[in-house]
Amino acid sequence: METRFDAIVIGAGPAGSSAAILLAEAGWRVALVEKQAYPRRKVCGECISATNLPLLEALGIGNAIEPLAGGALRQVALVCGARIVRAPLPPYGDPIHPWGLAIGREHLDTLLLEQARYRGVSIFQPWQVCSIAGTPGNFHCRLRQADGGEERLLPVSLVIDAHGSWEPPVPQDGRPDAPRCSRHRSSDLFAFKANFANAALEAGLLPVFSFPGGYGGMVIGGGASATFAFCIRRDALTRARSRFPGMKPAEAAHGWVRQHCSAAARLFGDAVQLGKWLGAGPIRPGIHLGGRYDGLFRIGNAAGEAHPIIGEGISMALQSAVLLAGTLVGDGLPRADGQAQARLHAEYVQGWRRHFARRIRLAALYAQLAMRPHIVSGGLPALERNPALLTRFARWSGKVRPGPGIARNGRATEYA
Ligand SMILES: Cc1cc2nc3c(=O)[nH]c(=O)nc-3n(C[C@H](O)[C@H](O)[C@H](O)COP(=O)(O)OP(=O)(O)OC[C@H]3O[C@@H](n4cnc5c(N)ncnc54)[C@H](O)[C@@H]3O)c2cc1C
Repeated sequence: METRFDAIVIGAGPAGSSAAILLAEAGWRVALVEKQAYPRRKVCGECISATNLPLLEALGIGNAIEPLAGGALRQVALVCGARIVRAPLPPYGDPIHPWGLAIGREHLDTLLLEQARYRGVSIFQPWQVCSIAGTPGNFHCRLRQADGGEERLLPVSLVIDAHGSWEPPVPQDGRPDAPRCSRHRSSDLFAFKANFANAALEAGLLPVFSFPGGYGGMVIGGGASATFAFCIRRDALTRARSRFPGMKPAEAAHGWVRQHCSAAARLFGDAVQLGKWLGAGPIRPGIHLGGRYDGLFRIGNAAGEAHPIIGEGISMALQSAVLLAGTLVGDGLPRADGQAQARLHAEYVQGWRRHFARRIRLAALYAQLAMRPHIVSGGLPALERNPALLTRFARWSGKVRPGPGIARNGRATEYA
């Protein structure tokens, strides 16, 4: 007979692995299921705000991160057309971790997953959760091995959905599939990322690009390689592809960015691309967490996705995992009955909205502006005169706002 788990976590991104670590630490029997084999690269700008460094330390990977990360991120820049405006990033009030950093997802996600394994979490990888049946306290999750096609049915009390937002959610038996918009919308966003060697970009600077129909960011990560990641609307991508016929979508989109942001040449210099472009999409940022309890606890992008322009998705993944684990563990032993889970869900949703809803809405506003460089360029003279405004915009995006944390006893606390 299969072991009964207190909780199953679907997806081992930063949200899923962090939740699994914290619950295992509290004595829960946890299964963590990830469909992809690690290490794997992922479309992401890979910047982590300083507010998360104490969390990563508490999760047990603080020391392992530093040698794999780029230098401290101390400055932000706005790149629009031929102009670049620079400003200091706001420092976080923790003297040990005043600045954020950048680290490849192939490193971050692997470190967190291995830490979960070390803390006693049962890892299923590469396995996929295919369906969920039953009710809170008595779920059965069907898992399929990615390569062999072997299947297993795991009995679990509680389900944590950390599957991200770029793939379909796991179907729940007896419930209609979550509505998926299959209609193409011109506002759909596509995301691309590539790494570059020999870029002229200086370490510690975080330039944000504004171009017609999109925005992007560039940073020096570990091994001195630059990560360039950007989002582009479907209609702008179509125009880019007709402007650069014969090119693959990512290359045409890159050409579009470089053509509209001529200042980018000063940051790329003689950069040489390392490896292939990665692509994802369509992505549709927004709040996915409903107030109604349907049996699942959602964290990370599965709960809500901020436009990547603010580079806060990893923060929100880690912090929502901490918030959920704090809510569940604070309640004592794993709760099997549906009523108790519904009450905990309501408490979690309330905390989630307090911490993240505003950040998601503000990110949408920044994104809409950045995709309209004719508006941004109108504001550049004011920013050039007063770069502190840029610093303030970064502060508003939540970069130095403490979220839920982990107390000395390993329990999650809300010290916001
Ligand atoms: C262009 C771009 C730039 C970005 N830049 C930044 C940045 O600089 N800083 C930042 O903080 N954030 C950034 N983000 C956002 C960040 O990448 C995400 O918010 C973050 O990855 C969310 O983490 P997560 O754990 O919720 O989900 P994910 O990281 O998406 O992990 C979900 C995991 O679940 C797995 N999975 C899915 N379905 C199943 C299933 N059925 N069974 C098993 N496993 C499953 C997937 O394989 C995946 O590994 C950026 C995003 C984009 C698009």
